[in-house]
Amino acid sequence: MRQKYVVGNWKMNPANKEEAVSLARDIDHALDNLADVQAVICPPHVYLAPVRLDLKNLALGAQDVSPFAAGAYTGQVSAAQLYNLGVTYCLAGHSERIRHARETAQDINGKIKACREKGIRPVVCLGAGLSPQDPEAKIRAVVRRQFTEYLSDISLDKIILAYEPTWAISGVGGGRMPTPNHVQAMAEFIKSLAAPEHFKEVAVLYGGNVNAHDAQEFNVCDGFLVGAASLNANDFIQIVQSL
Ligand code: PEP
Repeated sequence: MRQKYVVGNWKMNPANKEEAVSLARDIDHALDNLADVQAVICPPHVYLAPVRLDLKNLALGAQDVSPFAAGAYTGQVSAAQLYNLGVTYCLAGHSERIRHARETAQDINGKIKACREKGIRPVVCLGAGLSPQDPEAKIRAVVRRQFTEYLSDISLDKIILAYEPTWAISGVGGGRMPTPNHVQAMAEFIKSLAAPEHFKEVAVLYGGNVNAHDAQEFNVCDGFLVGAASLNANDFIQIVQSL
C-alpha cells in the first residue's frame, strides 16, 4: 500500500512547554502500529527538544529553516541544528510565511536546498496567493509557476508536496473548503508536473481546514497538512486514522 502522511502544523501554539509535551504525548500514544501512514508534528522551534523526548510513533517536523548553513543570521535556525534535534521534516512555501514574513520564491528554494543537504524532508506548499474566485486555468498556472520556481534545480526524491490554496487555510485565508474533486484533480496535476520518473513516487497532500469530520471525504490524495485540527489530540488522531 502507498505510504500516506499527515503533517500537523502547530503554528505559534500552544502557550507553554507543558501543553506542547502533553499534546505530543497524547497523539503519539494513540498512533501505535500505523504501517501505512506517517504522522508528523511541527511544533514551534522552542518546543522541538522537549517534545522529541517522548516520541515513538510520530516524526518531528519544523515549521521553518534558514536557507543559510551557518553564520551571522540573527534569529535564524539552520537545517543542521534542526537535524541534530531529531527533525526529519520541514515545511516550506507556507502561505503564512509568504504573507507575514515576505518570503520570496528564492528564499523558499534556498530553504528546500538547505533541508535536502541535511537529509530533512521538505513539505513544500503550493497554492499561496490563490483566491476562491480564481478560474481553474489561473490556479494551475500559479501552482505550475511555484513548482518551477521552488523546485526546478532540486531533485524531487523524498520531497513531499502539498496543495494548499491560501483561501482554504483557516488562519490566513478564511477556511473555505474546495470540493474533493478539485483536490483530487489538483493532486493529479501536481504529480504530472513532476518528471515522469518521479510521477508515481511523489506524495501530494492536501492542506486547508481539514478536520476530523471531513477527512474521510477528502481522502483523495496522499494525506493532509493540518493546522488548527492538529492542536486537538483526538481530532488529529481521527484524521490520521481516517486514511
Ligand atoms: C496550514 O496552516 O497549513 C493549514 C492547513 O491550516 P488549517 O488546517 O488550520 O486550515
